[in-house]
Amino acid sequence: MVPPAIQTLLILQDRDQKRLGLEAQLKQVPQDLARVEQKIAGEKAAIDTARTELRGLESKKKLLEADIGSVETKVGQYKTQQLSIRKNDEYQAMGQQIITAQGQIAELEGQELEVMYAIDEAKKKFAAAEAELKANISGHEERLKVLREREANLKAEHQTAQADVASARTGVDSLRLRVYDRVAARNMPVVVPIRGAKCGGCHLKVSSEVESAARGKGEPTAAPPTCDQCGRIVYWDY
Ligand SMILES: [Zn+2]
Repeated sequence: MVPPAIQTLLILQDRDQKRLGLEAQLKQVPQDLARVEQKIAGEKAAIDTARTELRGLESKKKLLEADIGSVETKVGQYKTQQLSIRKNDEYQAMGQQIITAQGQIAELEGQELEVMYAIDEAKKKFAAAEAELKANISGHEERLKVLREREANLKAEHQTAQADVASARTGVDSLRLRVYDRVAARNMPVVVPIRGAKCGGCHLKVSSEVESAARGKGEPTAAPPTCDQCGRIVYWDY
């Protein structure tokens, strides 16, 4: 038989462990929420990056078109001027300028083709990023909802657990409570059986004095027997 003074401590310990378990689970929830939110933010950022890239390429294409237009205008002007040139060498020089400008146009058109190809690729990337978020968002939102519900439930359970701990504490005398709290700050469980002359917490041998104290009925006013090694409250279980 476990002495009544130990029984009340075991009840307190059981409730305390439940409370601690809930606290560990509650601590995990914000991290889980943050992980889902990071995933959403990452997918949105991928869309923004693709959009920025696409816009940049489109404005590059517009600039190239403007450049091509202005060189074409120049070629037109050269050709008109060339018509009124009488001297052969000046005529030839103008012809050379026209060829150079036409070369520039070909060069710019080559660049424009490359940009157009890059725009097609960027559009594909943008569409893929959008599709990914669209495919995942309902799953993400469901996960967030479940986590928030879980957090609310855990908080309610934790409140109950705290009340249960408080009521269990009222059944324990102040001397045992002091020893319990001191050990609980470092080591859980606090109250352990002696088995084969060993402490059930640290598994080291307890002294014969501690063992016989644990075997005794235990005066309610006396300090509870504690392990010589780890300080846990020990009791005799069989
Ligand atoms: Zn011990």
